[in-house]
Amino acid sequence: MKPFHFMRPANIPAAMAALQDSPNARLLGGGTNLVDLMRLGIEQPNRLVQIHALPLAQIESMPDGGVRIGAAISNTEMANHPLIRERYPLLSKALLSGASPQLRNMATAGGNLMQRTRCYYFMDTAFPACNKRNPGSGCAALEGVNRIHAIFGASNSCIAVHPSDMCVALAALDAVIQVRGPKESRAIPINDFHRLPGDTPHIETNLAPDEIITSIDLPRSRWARRVEYVKLRDRHSFAFALVSCAAALDLDGKIVRAARLAFGGVAHKPWRSFAAEQLLVGKPLNIDLIERASDLVVEGAKPRPGNRFKLALMKNIAKRSLMSAGGMA
Ligand SMILES: Cc1cc2nc3c(=O)[nH]c(=O)nc-3n(C[C@H](O)[C@H](O)[C@H](O)COP(=O)(O)OP(=O)(O)OC[C@H]3O[C@@H](n4cnc5c(N)ncnc54)[C@H](O)[C@@H]3O)c2cc1C
Ligand code: SF4
Repeated sequence: MKPFHFMRPANIPAAMAALQDSPNARLLGGGTNLVDLMRLGIEQPNRLVQIHALPLAQIESMPDGGVRIGAAISNTEMANHPLIRERYPLLSKALLSGASPQLRNMATAGGNLMQRTRCYYFMDTAFPACNKRNPGSGCAALEGVNRIHAIFGASNSCIAVHPSDMCVALAALDAVIQVRGPKESRAIPINDFHRLPGDTPHIETNLAPDEIITSIDLPRSRWARRVEYVKLRDRHSFAFALVSCAAALDLDGKIVRAARLAFGGVAHKPWRSFAAEQLLVGKPLNIDLIERASDLVVEGAKPRPGNRFKLALMKNIAKRSLMSAGGMA
């Protein structure tokens, strides 16, 4: 690992100044992703700016009935907090399906949003071709082993997926990411936070290098209680999703008033299935409707030779999640 300076600022202006002074500085949350990447030589910051002394470790109720989650809150605290368990059980469930208890104790809300892909070729510097690690070098996964890779939104430059469970739940809950920059604070809807790879897969989010995530805001929503999160993976614990699904429903009797269906493990960002959501709205929830919506979630998918199996996983997981959210499991 290359030598670096470690800083622990006590307020946000000081943290921002530390980022601006040094273009190759990185914020440090729990370090569960960044430090691994530093050990592997994939990230080589010259300065680490730790966020734990910043006033970003609260979970609080907002006047509209939503909840604000500070960016330095650990995944464990978030998953077990009474406000999250009561108002956003989908988020608790998604978080608890991720990593291990030890990792969740360290991992922060901001770090989870910013975690990088688990593409084998990105994680192994022995492979020279990776546009994300080394822009312009090519993409070894296109013709290589692409079992875990994207079936939606990929490009000829990169077919990696975003590995987070938390972010899939956030997509279904219409979360808003609050960020602070040197000139202004701004709010980024979760759907606009992560980017598709296009020609610049090394730029993964719409966060500027000198901006800090301060909180994740969850608006009050009518679909936050009838929910399910299902994660399919190679082994039952301590593994990233091959495909995961967050389903959320608002029902008026049997009629679907609103629906959210978001997937993990299928794209460079949490993937909302807007067409399936629209199909569900305004109709009575029954098996036939759920099956039609589940068929729709794979429309437009472009699987690679190694990951065609994800189509069946996606349809099955959508059906299972919707049935459970709708009380029909
Ligand atoms: C073995 C293993 C298994 C795992 N399994 C899963 C899993 O099943 N599901 C899952 O979702 N995740 C899984 N993870 C990933 C884990 O959730 C992430 O590593 C973790 O969430 C990252 O959080 P962190 O605080 O440790 O981030 P760090 O490693 O500290 O930082 C990650 C990135 O976030 C940036 N950052 C941190 N805070 C901020 C901020 N406030 N503003 C802007 N940028 C910031 C850092 O600069 C860095 O670029 C696993 C990790 C490991 C090692
Ligand atoms: S899929 Fe993306 S991360 Fe993986 S090798 Fe290709 S460019 Fe790199």
